[in-house]
Amino acid sequence: MAQQASKSHYDVVIVGGAVIGSATAYFLAKNPDFDGSVLVVERDWSYAKSATALSSASIRHQFSNPLNIQISRFGTEFIRHFHELVEVDGDAPELGFKENGYLYLGDANGAPMFERNYHTQRENGADVVLLDREQLGSRFSWLNTEGLVNGVYGQTGEGWFDSYGLLQGMRRKARALGIEYIENEVVEILREGSKVTGVVLQSGETIHCDTMVNAAGTRGPAMARLAGLNIPVEPRKRCLFVFDCRTPLEGTVPLTIDTTGIFFRPEGKYFLTGCYPEPDPLADVNDFDVIHNEFDDIIWPALAERIPAFEAIKVVNAWAGHYDFCVLDHNAIVGPHPEVTNFLFANGFSGHGLQQSPAVGRGLSELIAYGEYRALDLAPLGYQRVIDNQPFLEEGVI
Ligand SMILES: Cc1cc2nc3c(=O)[nH]c(=O)nc-3n(C[C@H](O)[C@H](O)[C@H](O)COP(=O)(O)OP(=O)(O)OC[C@H]3O[C@@H](n4cnc5c(N)ncnc54)[C@H](O)[C@@H]3O)c2cc1C
Repeated sequence: MAQQASKSHYDVVIVGGAVIGSATAYFLAKNPDFDGSVLVVERDWSYAKSATALSSASIRHQFSNPLNIQISRFGTEFIRHFHELVEVDGDAPELGFKENGYLYLGDANGAPMFERNYHTQRENGADVVLLDREQLGSRFSWLNTEGLVNGVYGQTGEGWFDSYGLLQGMRRKARALGIEYIENEVVEILREGSKVTGVVLQSGETIHCDTMVNAAGTRGPAMARLAGLNIPVEPRKRCLFVFDCRTPLEGTVPLTIDTTGIFFRPEGKYFLTGCYPEPDPLADVNDFDVIHNEFDDIIWPALAERIPAFEAIKVVNAWAGHYDFCVLDHNAIVGPHPEVTNFLFANGFSGHGLQQSPAVGRGLSELIAYGEYRALDLAPLGYQRVIDNQPFLEEGVI
């Protein structure tokens, strides 16, 4: 049953109240220089089909672009201090941050890129270490190092956490600080010339606003189209599999990304895995069917080759979600449309929106409050690069 908004005008309307919408709401609520009204419209309060809830919930500093490294470093700080930041009435949730690191494995093809990116990461404050084949073998005894040349391991700051907890903690704090959330759906966007003036809800209400934030995830392109705008973002299906392995892996087990692109990480007493599918067609946002042969045909053979203990494993759970995939360059589009300047994008996060949500929420809140980015300049992720057809260069995409 759709909920009604308490007013017919807000300074800011945020469409989509999952991790990106809630991070934006949270940082607006926390900003002492902003005293405007904010409405978050979310079509499904269960969040069951949101990418946020279906993600593999991991954070890394191993990017090639300094801006992405800085964005994730802020994400780590936010996660580490989460319980104090989102405390409400003495209730301070923890995210269970498992700081086991990422381990990227390089063969002869990938090794030069990993070495280059390692230097960029170090220069930008990431606590990563470059390991040669021998060092990989002695540090991670469960690994078959055949064919490997090097690997980069994040010693601190990288790992995995509770993604649903991240969303709920920010949402709860934002609401406690006066941000209004309603369960309803934006079905129309009102635009007059170079301004968006409001939204129409599925319940029939019209809500006027001065600024609109598009945080609708895989439905973000549809929202943009309602305002007569286009973004090069498409839903792409990603399947995750949880498996059991009887033989324990001794020592630290990071989120490991094989030379094939297949990743795995511990998930409680099990392991979580997934791959970058080829081909990778446009998906239907309502199609959540798991492609089971991805595990049998692609993932398992590669895992068994790389980790001998994974010869004998059994899938115990699997699900599918969607990336809001930026076809231009696999990176987020953040900030205003140059011609419709009060329509702010927060779309196209591809595989790293969860970890980017604190920095992006903070950045959008600064744009709204001050008309400029302050803590971290997110302009390189802006829409202008779409117009210029200039991809944001990032080699570390999963
Ligand atoms: C399988 C998988 C693994 C991933 N792994 C990672 C990872 O390890 N690390 C990482 O950083 N990122 C990861 N990601 C990416 C990350 O999950 C997303 O980038 C991030 O969650 C996007 O958040 P969002 O709020 O933009 O979108 P969503 O979480 O999809 O939320 C969008 C919300 O908008 C609502 N909405 C849509 N249309 C409307 C409308 N018209 N009116 C009202 N509400 C609307 C939806 O109901 C939804 O709740 C992964 C994604 C997937 C699918």
